[in-house]
Amino acid sequence: MFTLLPKLPLYWAYRHFGWPTMMPFSIVISVSYRCNSKCKTCDVWRKPNDDMTLEEWDKTFANIGRGPLYFTFTGGEPFMRKDTVDMALSAYRHCRPSVITIPTNGILSRQILEQVDRLCAGAPKANIGINLSLDEVGQRHDEIRMVPGNWDKAMKTWAELKALQKQHKNLVLTNHTVISNFNIDRFFEIYAGLEALEPDSYITEIAEERVELDTMIGTSPPWLKNMAR
Ligand code: SF4
Repeated sequence: MFTLLPKLPLYWAYRHFGWPTMMPFSIVISVSYRCNSKCKTCDVWRKPNDDMTLEEWDKTFANIGRGPLYFTFTGGEPFMRKDTVDMALSAYRHCRPSVITIPTNGILSRQILEQVDRLCAGAPKANIGINLSLDEVGQRHDEIRMVPGNWDKAMKTWAELKALQKQHKNLVLTNHTVISNFNIDRFFEIYAGLEALEPDSYITEIAEERVELDTMIGTSPPWLKNMAR
């Protein structure tokens, strides 16, 4: 934030006059549409994939260079790619962001732990934010995600990330809930249930129509029309 404040007049000038040319301070990259959850609020996992390779992203980050402060590597489930952390480290090398965030459904415990460990060690001057997506508590979470055992696997991952945090001071652990028709009536119970996990922060997001998630009403399957927006 302190790095960003002096640049705010320049961003304002770029927005209003088109000069000086400024890079965005936040960049969100979808590393893949593949996902091993099948959430009722998201259709991204049905989309065809044409992922850019690590080499292509490396060239992209080299061209972007210094400027963006905040990178998010999202999906799909980002940790389904074994080289997501290499992409994040490439962005760190070329662009030197202050924050790198990766959301996850927490299913692939071993792969997540290995990649987060490597990222925290390889990007020591950045805050590494891992956002565990939890839309309900226990079996109700599995029903929204449409994956039996999703909650238990996410809890295993969470416990291991908490232990890993003792080794890496730059690791920030967040819980993230998508609020929709499927959980809004229980929001306070969900909040209380997730508070017990003692995250560093808690964020929510309202389920909405988004082109990149393939959740535009009219172009999506009929059941999606029940989704809150
Ligand atoms: S919301 Fe996230 S975890 Fe759920 S299907 Fe979409 S990308 Fe996967």
